Amino acid sequence: MQTYKMFINGEWVDTESGKTFATINPSTGEELGRVPQAGIEDVDKAVNAANQALPEWSKMTQSDRAKTILRFADLVEEHSEELVDLEVNEHGTPIMLARGFAAAAVDQLEYIACISRGLMGQVLPQSIPNTIGYLQRVPIGVCAVITPWNVPLMMMLSMIGPALVTGNTCILKPASVSSILGVKFTEILEKADLPRGVMNLVTGPGGSVGDALTTHPGVDMVRFTGASDTGKEILMAASQTVKKCVMELGGNNPVIVCEDANVEKAAKLQAGRHYGNSAQNCSTPGRYYVHENVYDEFVEVFANEVKGINVGLPWDEKTAMGPMASLQQLEKVEYYIKTAKEQGARIVCGGSRPSTPPLDKGHFLMPTVVADCTHDMTIVREEIFGPAACILKFSSEEEVVKLANDSEYGLCAGVWTENGSKAMKITDELRVDSVFINMPRMMTPEFPWGGNVRQSGVGKSDSVCGMEEFTDLKFICKSYS
Ligand code: NDP
Repeated sequence: MQTYKMFINGEWVDTESGKTFATINPSTGEELGRVPQAGIEDVDKAVNAANQALPEWSKMTQSDRAKTILRFADLVEEHSEELVDLEVNEHGTPIMLARGFAAAAVDQLEYIACISRGLMGQVLPQSIPNTIGYLQRVPIGVCAVITPWNVPLMMMLSMIGPALVTGNTCILKPASVSSILGVKFTEILEKADLPRGVMNLVTGPGGSVGDALTTHPGVDMVRFTGASDTGKEILMAASQTVKKCVMELGGNNPVIVCEDANVEKAAKLQAGRHYGNSAQNCSTPGRYYVHENVYDEFVEVFANEVKGINVGLPWDEKTAMGPMASLQQLEKVEYYIKTAKEQGARIVCGGSRPSTPPLDKGHFLMPTVVADCTHDMTIVREEIFGPAACILKFSSEEEVVKLANDSEYGLCAGVWTENGSKAMKITDELRVDSVFINMPRMMTPEFPWGGNVRQSGVGKSDSVCGMEEFTDLKFICKSYS
């Protein structure tokens, strides 16, 4: 079994302690390879390297940095089979979806390189004679990038890409369960000829390695995506040295299906999207609120779609849904389903692990529809982050808007209605970062994601808005009298 290394100051290295840990293939439960378990001393070296590399990298022209990212995009395309292989074997992403992610990765990197050349500062109105005051866009500095496991490749590049292109230097700490993918990502990026120390990789547990990064005085910014509770810990840790923190956190997203919606289309499209990546997405709807007059129809069409989902080994071209990424996550979703049953919900389909080989060995759970839920149930209140969809009944728009807004999260929402002004009225009332009307959530590099609503995050990701988060506006005032 291969043992991988970390990347610090342009070299592939072991940890000071020599400790390693294994990552697991979620389809078989077998070890895939071993990665270094970094300690504080390794984090220190990575942070020092990133600080040393900062002056040269931040002063490089924007066009040169953009060209580096374009080279990286070409390399990702060239090495896409290796990346797909790891998405499939380390994360359990079905191969067809993993190929889609690899293609989207190239597209996103090209977008990042292109828009970076249009980022601008601002000249301020003259208020003192013979002076010019302006805002210059500058990098924040050394950026710790801490990523989750759920869409590993896209998560890494959507944070590392804009951080580097705007002149920051980086230390990546991938989720432990996706560490080998983090190594492969860094190996490919190294080939794009980055100066030594601009990109560093440390692997190891969030509680120690992540904490060492977020408390380190040599780190200027933390870019984090993960659970809201982890985000709170990071905010506290980073406050000791007042770092900029941008974080995309949890969601429990409501989708409202009104009486006048195209119910069949809504049920089919939502069900078709819900279970992609085993529903381990922050944007997956946590709660479907369906008007009582179309409730039965919605549940029936939705469940019929779900029963047709092909659950299988992720390397099989016909598989639409693979395993969950970890046993821990699988057990968490099983707990939510069990609690929902105890609290009076109805399991329309799924609800258990497949029992026949070869799916009995991995972290598989059949796609589950939980109907007749009520707003106070645990499965409705918390983020499921797995293949179970909760369906609830509502009777008035006033009521449903209140229910949709009654959450500690506010990431995104969906509205289905054929009445355009009703769609806008409901959208206006929803306290969320994004709303999708008559469509499930779609992602393109141009669309921003996340924001500042409740415990779902701090700051934007993706799009121009997400890139700007990695920059500061330095004020300069010059006299020419
Ligand atoms: P976690 O918060 O558990 O982990 C995310 C990362 O943080 C991992 O690299 C983890 O390391 C690290 N970490 C854990 N504890 C600490 C700590 N104390 N200090 C610093 N770093 C730490 O999230 P998951 O990986 O479980 O991802 C799922 C969550 O991510 C869901 O809540 C989901 O909603 C959210 N998410 C949000 C998105 C958004 O755009 N809003 C997008 C994708 C996911 P380790 O792996 O070693 O534990």
